[in-house]
Amino acid sequence: MNFITLNNGVKMPMLGYGTYNLDAKTTRRCVEDALSVGYRSIDTAEFYKNEEAIGEAIIASGIKREELFITSKIWVSNMNENVALKAFEASLKRLRLDYLDLYLIHWPVGDIYGAWRAMSKLYKEGKIKAIGVSNFLPDRIVDFCINNEIKPAINQVECNPLYQRANLQKVMQEYNVAMQSWASFGQGRSGVLDNNELAKIAKKHNKSIAQVVLNWLIERDIVVIPKSTKKERMIENLNVFDFSLDESDKAQIAKLEKGVSGLGNQQDPQRVKRLIELR
Ligand code: NDP
Repeated sequence: MNFITLNNGVKMPMLGYGTYNLDAKTTRRCVEDALSVGYRSIDTAEFYKNEEAIGEAIIASGIKREELFITSKIWVSNMNENVALKAFEASLKRLRLDYLDLYLIHWPVGDIYGAWRAMSKLYKEGKIKAIGVSNFLPDRIVDFCINNEIKPAINQVECNPLYQRANLQKVMQEYNVAMQSWASFGQGRSGVLDNNELAKIAKKHNKSIAQVVLNWLIERDIVVIPKSTKKERMIENLNVFDFSLDESDKAQIAKLEKGVSGLGNQQDPQRVKRLIELR
């Protein structure tokens, strides 16, 4: 496994396992499978309602806590200094852990400064090894980095060959904020996994499209957290460190950029309203 060193010195696996949209029973089975085939980094969120199942899978695995890297996220409805402290403790309890490796602001909605103060306090107390954000656009990153004592270690955003986020990554690099990709495969529904150009590149390297996508992201220093419910695909998604894309492959992939999300515009006012309503 390759690791990235975050801006506070914490080392994080470049590849982890995502758990969005899995019910509790499926989560338990999938996380056990993922840990058994070698994943050590698990991404969850209070919003996913599967932290308990992940806690159970971790215990069942018998893997030592210090070998794991566990990420969770605070939801929009808890974005407030006092509430955030409680939300964090509740996540920790559900996960049956006594610290988190990474805790993220899930969306830049609500009192994110208040939540960040709470997260900074927990970080200073050693209850979280690194704190970060998710779905922050360039303007929010600049504002947040300039106006906070502790800078986000990571910004977790939608990123894949059809929505490459090069401008966002450039701004983040100026502030030493690492990028992490969600929907590396466009959630299996936005055309990434059946793209003809990616298929040609995959064939050339005797790899799958999924493996090419993960390799391309990792090569760009982007941390990945692919999700699959199938054990054989979990293994496939881990085996991405034994080949390199050449300059012509990268040039082909650069041309796939559409410049818009394949999953919906996060700046759509209706979407922000929906996020606030969701619990
Ligand atoms: P992904 O882009 O990881 O896609 C998952 C889909 O890809 C599933 O349908 C899966 O199907 C399919 N898939 C996985 N591996 C393969 C493969 N090797 N070949 C073919 N198909 C494959 O979507 P996610 O939304 O799950 O994103 C990853 C993680 O990012 C989430 O699980 C979550 O942890 C995080 N996330 C964060 C968000 C945020 O706002 N911060 C938002 C959304 C996600 P199958 O199960 O059948 O294999």
